[in-house]
Amino acid sequence: MWRATVFTLFPEMFPGPLGLSLAGEARARGVWALETQDIRDHGRGKHRAVDDTPAGGGAGMVLRADVLAASLDAGLAADDTRPRLLMSPRGKPLRQARVHELSAGQGAVLICGRFEGIDERVIEARSLEEVSIGDYVLSGGELAAMVTLDAIVRLLPGVMGKEASGTEESFEGGLLEYPHYTRPRDFEGRAIPAILLSGDHTKIAAWRKAEALRITKERRPDLLGTMDGGTAPKK
Ligand code: SAM
Repeated sequence: MWRATVFTLFPEMFPGPLGLSLAGEARARGVWALETQDIRDHGRGKHRAVDDTPAGGGAGMVLRADVLAASLDAGLAADDTRPRLLMSPRGKPLRQARVHELSAGQGAVLICGRFEGIDERVIEARSLEEVSIGDYVLSGGELAAMVTLDAIVRLLPGVMGKEASGTEESFEGGLLEYPHYTRPRDFEGRAIPAILLSGDHTKIAAWRKAEALRITKERRPDLLGTMDGGTAPKK
């Protein structure tokens, strides 16, 4: 079973959306497991303080290295080799290729930051891999952890209905996905492209490829440099 352990100051946020739909059903079937660890359990003093003022001054508070280290050490077995992902806007952007790697492993540890930041020394001392879900700043790492887990869990064997739904979508093969259509044939005067109704699967595949290329060129030309897109691991 693929195992996720999430370190957070807000364990009550989980499973949240991960308890519903594909991820929720897969969890109920035992495809993956989710455990949360409350960082505050290792807070200091009567008020279980987890943060302190930044060395050198400045705005905001910093999550203490000793508190987070104590939480990680108590919550993880010494021989736990799962990747330890620290949700962080300055991390390496999460890409579908990394999502594939993570889903192929035993599981992952996800650490949710809060405040202005996390004491750098715990990042080094516990070999945390900083992961960003995009170039914007969230107020905490919980949503980032959920996004990361959702992307991973849907790739676990048996989670998606049809194998093909995972291999033909955006970022697989370095392109964004082609447009989709379904009934009705006419929607407010807009018809389904005739080729999709032709029954000629070779032509349909060629049209879809051309559309995927057109959309990628328009919206994400940066993806075209790497025609494997740096996405799905090579089989
Ligand atoms: N001061 C930090 C900076 O400028 O890099 C931002 C801290 S943010 C307010 C608090 C926490 O939210 C971070 O420690 C991180 O865990 C999470 N977070 C915010 N944006 C994120 C992103 N784009 N990807 C992943 N985690 C993010």
